[in-house]
Amino acid sequence: MYRTHTCGELTINNVGQRVTLCGWLQRSRDLGGMTFIDLRDRYGITQLAFNMETNADLCQQARRLGREFVLQAEGTVAERSSKNNKIPTGDIEIIVEKLTVLNESKLPPFTIEDNSDGGDDLRMKYRYLDIRRNPVRRNLELRHRMAMLTRNYLSNLGFLEIETPMLIKSTPEGARDFVVPSRMNPGEFYALPQSPQQYKQLLMVAGMDRYFQIVRCFRDEDLRADRQPEFTQIDCEMSFVEQEDVLNTFEGLAKHLFKEVKGLEFGNFPRMTWHDAMRLYGSDKPDIRFGMQFVELNDVAKDHGFGLFDSAELVVGICAQGCAEYTRKQLDALTEFVKRPQVGAGGMVYIKYNSDGTFKSSVDKFYTQDNLKAFADRFGAKPGDLMLILCGPAMKTRVQLCALRLEMGSQMGLRNPDQYAPLWVVDFPLLEWDDETQRYYAMHHPFTAPKPEDETLLDDPSRWGDIRANAYDIVMNGVEVGGGSIRIHNRTLQNKMFHTLGFTDESAQEQFGFLMGAFEYGAPPHAGLAFGFDRLCSLFGGCDSIRDFIAFPKNNAGRDVMSGSPSPISNAQLNELQIKVDLK
Ligand code: ASP
Repeated sequence: MYRTHTCGELTINNVGQRVTLCGWLQRSRDLGGMTFIDLRDRYGITQLAFNMETNADLCQQARRLGREFVLQAEGTVAERSSKNNKIPTGDIEIIVEKLTVLNESKLPPFTIEDNSDGGDDLRMKYRYLDIRRNPVRRNLELRHRMAMLTRNYLSNLGFLEIETPMLIKSTPEGARDFVVPSRMNPGEFYALPQSPQQYKQLLMVAGMDRYFQIVRCFRDEDLRADRQPEFTQIDCEMSFVEQEDVLNTFEGLAKHLFKEVKGLEFGNFPRMTWHDAMRLYGSDKPDIRFGMQFVELNDVAKDHGFGLFDSAELVVGICAQGCAEYTRKQLDALTEFVKRPQVGAGGMVYIKYNSDGTFKSSVDKFYTQDNLKAFADRFGAKPGDLMLILCGPAMKTRVQLCALRLEMGSQMGLRNPDQYAPLWVVDFPLLEWDDETQRYYAMHHPFTAPKPEDETLLDDPSRWGDIRANAYDIVMNGVEVGGGSIRIHNRTLQNKMFHTLGFTDESAQEQFGFLMGAFEYGAPPHAGLAFGFDRLCSLFGGCDSIRDFIAFPKNNAGRDVMSGSPSPISNAQLNELQIKVDLK
């Protein structure tokens, strides 16, 4: 038997017992007469004690061991004279009688401590060492727990976890597919699923009624900071349901996770239309941990001779309470912030509502004190507040103001990671215009149903942009953690949708024929959604990066720096696949 206990479980109640522990040498301290080793495994750290007087040989052996050596220690549990109340085993130590080196270790390239001295790249290269660190280990434990809770919760509601294929047909709609050449069918390719969307709908046609899967998905997109080419979804689909049923079911799951993992209880999640989210927050994933809603100002701003405002489609701003004392330097920094290419505003106007009731603004030339008071009234501002205003084309300006609002939220300490503000954003537009390709795309996906009352608008191309979908997102703290829709289960409507998206009968048939075919055999009304599991975990873990919650993530260039993938393959492999690579 390698061990009788783990390194995290012995306490004062075990004093006097003979035990054997296994683990890694975290740290050793040599105090002359005594040597101490911190032995670490997944469960904790236990102190091993070696006494020079009573057992000199063993003590000397212990002193020669390096960090991360794998040890087996046999000895007796004793009460410590100087206790460590920071760890559960801090009251005891093991007086070691026998020590076996199970394996040696090279000196690790960074310290295996909570705050490691290793940079990101180095830790990713040696991810197996990084995972030995508490914060990373804890993240993976959290992920496991969330997966178990999800499985049990959904299973108890009658959902079946059903696996769907990883090698599927490529469909150009949506993001870019990762493709896999088929050796047995030269010149033909599988795609890795961007999501099991069509399969889960087929499972509804198949009568499975309630499906879920914690499933890997693949999207070959240009990576942004918090994206991974492969990621995990909690993917769900239900039959004979309306939007209300879906929202309630998965709000239930979210609440269950909050309660079990964070000990937090919530009332009903607020719901906001996409239109309101854009108007009030400039985002379809508003962070509602704080207010600072947008205030539209066209009528008070225009016709005072300030050309920028006069010519703008929208003048809109936020009121930062208690920030009137912002210095010139701070205001300049905010202007620089909104002018960065990532935000893209031309500039920023500020109005300070001084504590003496006067106003000071960057547009004093154009506005009298009374004019500025009209702005303040519109904002509901009080003396001591700071109003920040942007202008330009409506949608663009809202998105820019969203960035400024979040920045102010951060500066004012209103975005506490321990506070959670979930909500549903509903009634997304069905279609989204793309300037580059000059056509509409499905905002969610081509199987999403329009709101019944908007269906007739499909017959009028000039109104396509106005059609609302029965589509919804679940948002927490400014992060989209999931989304889904009511599906089209009617063949005629689906055909109409494909035409709207620019498909001919043939191209729709060629890409989606199998799903359309299935829909002719009695497709039930159905709907579903998928949570981004990595993101949900990172949110619950109070962390910004999903990478910290994936055991072996890829870097920003989509590379696994540990294994060195992607990598070239041999000519023999290429020949077998009948693929010619011409890198010019
Ligand atoms: N398949 C969708 C997605 O990946 C989610 C859904 O509509 O259920 O976003």
